Amino acid sequence: MTNWQELEAKYYMQVVRRTPLTLIRGRGVRVWDDKGREYLDFVGGWAVNSLGHCHPAVIQAVTEQVKTLIHTSNQFYTIPQVQLAELLVQHSCLDRVFLCNSGTEASEGAVKLARRYGKLHLSGAYEVITATNSFHGRTLAMVAATGQAKFQEPYTPLPVGFVNVAFNDIEAIKAATTPQTCAVMLEPLQGEGGVNIPSQGYLAAVRDWCHQKGLLLILDEIQTGLGRLGTLFAYQQHGIEPDIMTLAKGLASGIPIGAVLAKEAASVFAAGDHGSTFGGNPVACAAGYATFKYILENDVAGQVRMTGEHLMRGLQELKQKFPSVSDVRGRGLLTAIEFKSDIAAAVGAACFDGGLLVNVLKANAIRFMPPLIISTGEIDEALGILERALTSIPGQVADE
Ligand SMILES: *Cc1c(COP(=O)(O)O)cnc(C)c1O
Repeated sequence: MTNWQELEAKYYMQVVRRTPLTLIRGRGVRVWDDKGREYLDFVGGWAVNSLGHCHPAVIQAVTEQVKTLIHTSNQFYTIPQVQLAELLVQHSCLDRVFLCNSGTEASEGAVKLARRYGKLHLSGAYEVITATNSFHGRTLAMVAATGQAKFQEPYTPLPVGFVNVAFNDIEAIKAATTPQTCAVMLEPLQGEGGVNIPSQGYLAAVRDWCHQKGLLLILDEIQTGLGRLGTLFAYQQHGIEPDIMTLAKGLASGIPIGAVLAKEAASVFAAGDHGSTFGGNPVACAAGYATFKYILENDVAGQVRMTGEHLMRGLQELKQKFPSVSDVRGRGLLTAIEFKSDIAAAVGAACFDGGLLVNVLKANAIRFMPPLIISTGEIDEALGILERALTSIPGQVADE
C-alpha cells in the first residue's frame, strides 16, 4: 500500500501540521480514509463543506457545467456568473458582486475597493482599521490586515495602510480613526482567532461611527456567511448593513470561490480597476448557485439555528460534567470548547481515535464547524465520541 503521508513529507512544502489521515471519499457528514475507516467530519473543510461532502445538488450542477463549458475568460459573458450574482444580490443587502477564487482574494478585493472609494470620495484616505485576533487571509496585504503576530512576524516588513486595534472595543476604533482612514474591516464573529463573539451593540456602534465619519464598513463574512450562524448572513443578527461584504468558504460547497459584495454607493470600481482570470468561473459559479439555492429553498439557516442549539446544549452538558472545560461558545454551527489547561491536542487526538474529526484551534481550544446539513442524531454521535475522549484524558473527570 502506498504511504501517501511519507510521499507528502518528501514532495510537499511542510506548511501545514496535518492530522495523520489520508482522506479518499466523503458523503454527507462522513469521510473515509485510505484504510476504509469512517469518520464524522466536524472540521467540514474549515467551514467550507456547507452542504456536506458530495451533495447531490452540487454534483449535478458541477457535472452538467463541466460537460457544457468549463472556462472562458472574463472578456465574455457567462450565464452561471450572472445567475449567482443575481441570487446573492436578491438575498442580501448589497447591490453588486465581484467573484474571485478564495477568501483572501475577496478580502483583498474589498480593501482595494475601499481604497478606490478613499481616492474618489475621502481625499485619498487609504487606511483600513482591523481587529486583533482577526483573520482575513494570507496574501501579504491580508497578513497586514490580520491582527495576529504569528501570521505577521515571518513576513515583515508588511504593506502599509492597516491599523490593528482591540476587537469588541468601539473606543479603540474611534481612537485609531484619522483623516487617512477609509474603512473599518471586521468579522462579525472571529472564527480563526478563537470563535470570539462581540458584545451586543458593538457592531451597531461601529456602524454608527462609520456613518458619522463617512467611512466604509467592510464585514468579512467568509466564515460566518451563508447560514453558518443560523441566519443567511451574520450582519442580520446585529440590525446593521455593511457597505461591503466578503464571502468565500461555504459559498460553493467546496469548489474554490470568493465574492466581494458592495452597496451601489460603495461600488466604485471602473473598467480595468480590478479583475481575475479564474474569478467567476462557470463551474465554480454553478456550484455556488446550486449551493446557495439549496440553502435558500430548504431554510438551511433555520435548520442551523435548531441543530446549533442542540450542539450547544450538548456542549454545555459536557461543561457541567468535566471540570477541565472552562467555556463553550459559538453561534449556529460555529462553536468552540475551551479548556482550563492546554489539553486541546490530546482531546483532538482522542476524538480522532474515536472516529470524530475536529479542529484544534489553540493549545486550549477546539472548534467545530460541521456541514450545515448535519442532523441532531449525527451531533449526538459526535458528542458521545467527544465525551469518551474527555473521559480518557487523565485527571479530567469530576469526582462523583
Ligand atoms: C478562511 C478565512 C479567510 C481566508 O480565506 P482563504 O480562502 O483561505 O483565502 C478570510 N477571512 C475569514 C474570516 C476566514 O475565515
